[in-house]
Amino acid sequence: MLKLADITALFKSSANYQISQLDPQPANFIEYGWAWILQSYGEFGLFLIFYTAMAVLYAIGGFIFYLFDKYKLFPKRKLQVTKYPSSSDIKKCIENLVTNYILVILPLGVLSFPMTKYLGMTYTLPLPPFWRFCLDIFLCLLGEDFFQYWMHRGFHYPWFYKNVHKEHHYYSAPFGFTASYAHPVEVVFLGFATFAPALMIRPHFFTFYSWFIIRQLDAVLTHSGYDLELFPLNHMPYWGGTSFHDYHHKEFTCNYASRFTFLDKMFGTYKEKPTSSGAPKLVKSEKSK
Ligand SMILES: [Zn+2]
Ligand SMILES: [Zn+2]
Repeated sequence: MLKLADITALFKSSANYQISQLDPQPANFIEYGWAWILQSYGEFGLFLIFYTAMAVLYAIGGFIFYLFDKYKLFPKRKLQVTKYPSSSDIKKCIENLVTNYILVILPLGVLSFPMTKYLGMTYTLPLPPFWRFCLDIFLCLLGEDFFQYWMHRGFHYPWFYKNVHKEHHYYSAPFGFTASYAHPVEVVFLGFATFAPALMIRPHFFTFYSWFIIRQLDAVLTHSGYDLELFPLNHMPYWGGTSFHDYHHKEFTCNYASRFTFLDKMFGTYKEKPTSSGAPKLVKSEKSK
């Protein structure tokens, strides 16, 4: 029978992280910070710090786009030009987010913590070189797109749409905070789409945790309602970005992938938002859902 001590052991650090005994020693301030957190709080403490950082950065990202809407900054980059969220829209969204972050995403992270320890991933120095970090993140972006495409498409079958995914489509003109606005069942399934490619690649834990933060910030951006031409990835081939996903919220039955366009193009579900001379075309006002 599983004892309490067996369960608590799963959350204990599996190595000694005293900085003075590390070999190699931290080579820069990022490695020192990483080693200091492990020495001070252990592996589970590190997980909680990254989880908190993810939630805080999500809130900051959402708040920046809230300011865009509130003060009507960059109106030429606004995708659905007449649609600004009301304060009741924002309140409803934040209530759902707080519930999901505390009652769904955090427990999923805690449950997955012991699992990741047995997959050969490492906390130890040195941290991966920048090229390896970028490569692993890029592979995670690609892998998540694959899982997300098929799961998201499945969520648009009538029963799943009516009972689960409709919640995410409550906002036909999304804004930054709406990235994780969803039914808890959807959060669990799409959490798998985020988790799976990382588990297949098994990167360093630094990359693994960074991936969740980068992915959440990308989701805030793609739900922001603003097509920012200065965002460098917007110029990458097959990068759909914000206008791609914003159009999914408006049209429903197209653009199922998270960010890249090639899967939708391959399987005939791609739709491009009408444009004129490179700028987003003005979208006629329509009654809010
Ligand atoms: Zn969405
Ligand atoms: Zn959808």
